[in-house]
Amino acid sequence: MGKVRAPATVRRVYERMFICMRCNSKLRSDTLRVKAGKVKCRKCGYKHLRAKKKDRKV
Ligand SMILES: [Zn+2]
Repeated sequence: MGKVRAPATVRRVYERMFICMRCNSKLRSDTLRVKAGKVKCRKCGYKHLRAKKKDRKV
């Protein structure tokens, strides 16, 4: 019983997560919209976002 979480699913989720490079708040959006510069941080309005998947906890 129970579904195995496919790696593709995990990757898809992380590809839609972005981190504001100014205040580090997380936001979810489409990769295409972020690349087009249409997405701003909800908190501070900063446009520079990075993908969550590159984030590593040190
Ligand atoms: Zn921000």
